[in-house]
Amino acid sequence: MRTLVILCGLTLLTASQAPGEDLKPVPPPPGAKVLLDGKDLSGWTTRGGQPARWKVVEGGAVECVPRTGDIMTAEKFGPDFHLHVEFWLPLMKDAKDQGRSNSGVYLQGRYEIQVLDSYKNSTYANGSVGALYGIIAPDEKAQAKAVKPPEEWNAYDIYFRAPRVDASGKVTQKGEVTVVLNGVTLINKGKFDRTTGGALDQKLGEPGPILLQDHGNHVRYRNIWLKPLSASD
Ligand code: MG
Repeated sequence: MRTLVILCGLTLLTASQAPGEDLKPVPPPPGAKVLLDGKDLSGWTTRGGQPARWKVVEGGAVECVPRTGDIMTAEKFGPDFHLHVEFWLPLMKDAKDQGRSNSGVYLQGRYEIQVLDSYKNSTYANGSVGALYGIIAPDEKAQAKAVKPPEEWNAYDIYFRAPRVDASGKVTQKGEVTVVLNGVTLINKGKFDRTTGGALDQKLGEPGPILLQDHGNHVRYRNIWLKPLSASD
């Protein structure tokens, strides 16, 4: 019996720790809506509402076609949700800093959670992977633990609560975001009261789409799902 237990443990260890092994797609929990299933781009448009021009690639993923523009969901979400996003970054060994594989996940089209190859690639802290771009830097030690080399699948779990505003649009309660990369928390209930650069609009009190940034790199996404959060979640 003991041998069996050890063997099982070993198998699990091997399955979860083999170098370079792809992350298994994390299935959506009950109550979640799948936004990107990797089969097509239905439900996604350009910023201008035209059909999205990124391409479907192998492995149930979608790849950014550089300079075709950002893509976003036709549907709008908020104020509070859990967003799961899996992404893959091509190696650009001769590039550095923000020039490495770069993209971003915009919550409600207004708040960018940075997507960047931060593996052995330094940049300003609030522009590295896991940052609320330009506003909140990820925890440095946690980031070092979470970051994988390029060309492996990563998972973001983002817990988002939008800022609350009054009738004039003034923020009455700051927004709150928790960013988990590959199971490691990089930002824990970080507070914010403004949009990041490149936001679709400044309508902080309104629902908004999920938007993926075309930063000119062949970044891939798959298995994106969203589950609304209630006040008690
Ligand atoms: Mg970016």
